Amino acid sequence: HAKALGRNQHHAYSAELNKAARDRLQLEVQLREAAHAGQFELYFQPQIHAESGALVSAEALIRWKHPVHGLRLPGTFIDVAEDSGLIVEIGEWVVEQAIRTAAGWEADGLDCRLSCNVSPRQIQRPGFVAHVRNCLDRYKVTPGKIELEITESLVMSSDSATIDTIAQLRALGLSIAIDDFGTGYSNLARLKKLPIDRLKIDRSLIQDVAYSAEARTIVNAIVSLSHGLGYDCVAEGVETSLQADILSVIGCELLQGYSIAEPADEASFLSWAAARASRPRQVQALSIL
Ligand code: C2E
Ligand code: MG
Ligand code: MG
Ligand code: MG
Repeated sequence: HAKALGRNQHHAYSAELNKAARDRLQLEVQLREAAHAGQFELYFQPQIHAESGALVSAEALIRWKHPVHGLRLPGTFIDVAEDSGLIVEIGEWVVEQAIRTAAGWEADGLDCRLSCNVSPRQIQRPGFVAHVRNCLDRYKVTPGKIELEITESLVMSSDSATIDTIAQLRALGLSIAIDDFGTGYSNLARLKKLPIDRLKIDRSLIQDVAYSAEARTIVNAIVSLSHGLGYDCVAEGVETSLQADILSVIGCELLQGYSIAEPADEASFLSWAAARASRPRQVQALSIL
């Protein structure tokens, strides 16, 4: 009896596994089609200077405009793209599209940097630096207008070849940010030797700054560590103006999050930027710290 039960459970389990595997495979096929059908689009979310409120930069975030399922967020497909290796092709498109967009903004007189996310697999592939250089040349953008975001875990766990690649990218004149800082394990000894420009403090650390003295202590420490090493800081996931004010007092240079603006398509982002230019946010002095 027990044996039969075990067998049934086993069957149910493997049926589920099969379904998961099929779903994954189907997603992979759809992703491949999406890449060829041009269903990906970049959305843009501003990063503002904490003190003046001025627009400094924007992060490009991929969206999948699925003909049936509508707008799909990267959380629903980036993992599968990574595992299947499709991220290389998608990521090359992201880099080219971002550089093309930044070149357009520069030509139109919009003074705004543009950053895009690059995955570990992408950066570790030979030819990545050449692809970036090629796009910079082709679209004739000032390289300083471009930033690449790489994750903390990649930088901290990576071999000297990857660090060398990051240095080569930086030597092209673009800037490098470490994304989601504070979520992985950070080898602090390693942090000092990195060819990078800024740390993006993860949303999970920003979340509690208004309510928790401990959270403020941690963010404060990251900001001073970062400054001491010659990097600047971006806070991600800033959802309230109180968080924004606190981060400004702490000395975090840049702010990104829903309280400033949500990611939006290019046309919406550009009208947001135009409105912003005429009335930047004023920050009030705070005595909370
Ligand atoms: P990320 O690079 O850390 O991007 C920030 C994410 O936080 C974005 O989610 C953004 O929409 C969201 N966000 C921004 N402000 C707030 C806020 O105030 N509150 C909350 N709760 N969330 C906020 P999104 O666009 O869904 O992207 C998720 C992740 O997918 C990104 O995290 C990044 O790791 C990855 N990703 C996005 N685009 C690309 C891409 O083109 N290539 C690669 N390799 N990865 C990408
Ligand atoms: Mg990012
Ligand atoms: Mg991030
Ligand atoms: Mg994040």
